[in-house]
Parts: sequence; structure tokens; C-alpha cells
Amino acid sequence: MPEQFSPVSLATRDVHLSLGGNPVLRGVSIEVPRGETLCVIGPSGSGKSTLLRTVNRLLEPDRGDVLLDGESVLTRDPNLLRRQIGMVFQQFNLFPHLSVERNLTLPLRRLRGLSREAAVEAARQQLDLVGLRHKAGARPGRLSGGQQQRVAIARALALAPQVMLFDEATSALDPELVKGVLGLMADLGEQGMTMVVVTHEMRFAREAADRVAFMDRGTVLESGPPEQFFEAPESPRLRQFLADVL
Ligand code: ADP
Ligand code: MG
Repeated sequence: MPEQFSPVSLATRDVHLSLGGNPVLRGVSIEVPRGETLCVIGPSGSGKSTLLRTVNRLLEPDRGDVLLDGESVLTRDPNLLRRQIGMVFQQFNLFPHLSVERNLTLPLRRLRGLSREAAVEAARQQLDLVGLRHKAGARPGRLSGGQQQRVAIARALALAPQVMLFDEATSALDPELVKGVLGLMADLGEQGMTMVVVTHEMRFAREAADRVAFMDRGTVLESGPPEQFFEAPESPRLRQFLADVL
């Protein structure tokens, strides 16, 4: 991991959030020590995406707090926070009309204020790290889904985030492309990034997570280290969920 990375701890404290009158998060507390990977699993509609969106202030909690290194982010400038917390979505969210390189240089210039030359240099370095330097001039639509997702990850990493959030980053990929993206995420975790990974990939959760959390109906019903979580789940809801997906 390049030296500009300085991962920090992440926590949410009793976060509540209603959307359109529905209580979507009902007191969610998570703790991710610096450099650790938390995998979040759970049924569709349980609030996983909403939790990630609350962490980087795409949504504001009604109650509770979000802390980076022990300090609340709720009063921070959202633009600063976008730099500090990288997010990768299921649908890549690349700018289709811009080259791969410009997809990286644009946020570098806007959010980090780099000069054109410095942004190009940083973008190329980051593309090297995900093995896609040779695609710098291509439009995203010319790349495979797996390559597009690696570009999206490179774009987030180029901003030197302190935390990375992944929301079902491999769910839209053809099966043969999943492994490369999961491998990149696992490497990043091993290099010491602080990460929250929402995923359906149970094998990834088992092998790459320091802790796994199960969300159900807006709460974290159970969490623990992967061995305990998968081998000895306590709640009947989690046991049923694992029986259905494994
Ligand atoms: P997950 O990512 O676990 O599938 P989400 O966080 O996307 O779950 O959604 C959790 C719940 O919040 C769902 O029941 C969804 O219908 C509801 N929800 C999400 N966005 C809105 C919204 N803008 N207005 C009302 N309800 C919403
Ligand atoms: Mg979701």
C-alpha cells in the first residue's frame, strides 16, 4: 500500500435512521479497529447499504454517531469526508463519457486539489497497482465488469482514504470475474486498510474478515470472528440465513 495511506478506526454508535417513515436502521453500533476488515452480511432490505451510506454521510442519521479515530464525522465537511472514506458500489458508478484515466484524475483534482500533472501521475500509479495502466485511455464501457470495478477501486484509493467501504462490489460481475476483484480487496485488507465489506461471498467473509456482522431488520443481530460466526452461530435467524446461503 502506498505510503500516503493512514487508515483509522471506524465506529458507529446506536445509529437510527428512518426513510419515508420506515425505521431502516434501529440502533446500529459497529466497531472496526484500524487495519481490520468487517464483513457485513444479511438479507436484502436489512439496512446494509443504508448503514454504509450513513457512514460516509450520503445519509444523515436521525440519532447516534459515526466516528473516525474516535471523532464524530457528523460535523465534518462532506467533501473532506468523501476523501477520507472511499466507497465502491455494485454498479461501479464510473463516468461513462470519460477515459479511465480521467475518471481518476477528476476527483484527484477536485477533491485533493492536485495539479493536472500531479493528478495524471497519481492516477497512472494507482492504475499500475490494479494492473490496468494499459487501459488508461479507454472508455469504461470498453472494459469488462471486473476491470471496471478495479478502476472504481483505484479511483477510490487514489484519494488516499482512511477507510474503504464496499457495497456488494462483486454482485454485478460475471462469476469468472469475481475472483480478481475479491483478490484485490483481500490484498488491500492484508496491507492494513480499514474496511467494511457488505458481501454475499461467504468464502470471502470467512477468509478475509477479522469480524463478521449479521444485519437483520435494521439491527446487528450477531457479530464475531469468522470461525465462531460461521461454525457456532447463536441466533436462530443467523442459523437459518446461513443454512439458506451456504
Ligand atoms: P440492504 O442493502 O440490506 O438490501 P437497504 O439499506 O438498501 O438494504 O434498505 C433497507 C430498507 O430501507 C429496505 O426495506 C428499503 O426498502 C428501505 N429504503 C431504502 N431506501 C429508502 C427510501 N429512500 N425510502 C423509503 N425506504 C427506503
Ligand atoms: Mg444493499
